[in-house]
Order: sequence, then C-alpha cells, then structure tokens
Amino acid sequence: MSTDETPYICECDFCEQGLLRFRSCPECEAICAVCDECELIWEDVAEVSDDPSVKAASAYPRCPVCGAKEKGWPALDFEEIQDAELEDYISEDSV
Ligand SMILES: [Zn+2]
Ligand SMILES: [Zn+2]
Repeated sequence: MSTDETPYICECDFCEQGLLRFRSCPECEAICAVCDECELIWEDVAEVSDDPSVKAASAYPRCPVCGAKEKGWPALDFEEIQDAELEDYISEDSV
C-alpha cells in the first residue's frame, strides 16, 4: 500500500512496524484505522488512538462494520479526515 503521504493515527502496537491510517470501506464507507503492515483493522478510531493496545476488530480487507471483503480501501487525506471530524486523532508526528 503506498500511503506515505496520508496522516496517521499512531504506531501499530501489534506489529510495531506499521502505522495506523484512516481508511474507508469501499462498501459502506465506514472510516476505520488500518495498519500499513499487519493490516489489522480497528473500527473505533477514537478508541485505538486512546489506547493502541486495544484488540483489533478485524483484518484487512474484511470490514468490521458491514462484513464486506472488498480490497482497495482508500486512505483519507487531511481534508477528508477533517470532513469526518476525526482530525483530533491525527498523530502530531504525522503532519
Ligand atoms: Zn500493525
Ligand atoms: Zn464496510
């Protein structure tokens, strides 16, 4: 996944390699936190931002909200994150 430019939420506490980014399900458009490396998905961006060790809801590409297994979840850019009112969860190190 080439998403080096998009804001992220935090470092992944599970693989300790990847970063959790804002991605939306192509099926239901739910915005989740998805790790670049291990591809775990957290449904609740606020929760994983607060505590990165919380258990993941699913693994990419299975959407924890609608259950679709559609690949190609777009990563949200700063404006889209702002539109979704999730900008408080952007890591200070990512901008
Ligand atoms: Zn990870
Ligand atoms: Zn979905």
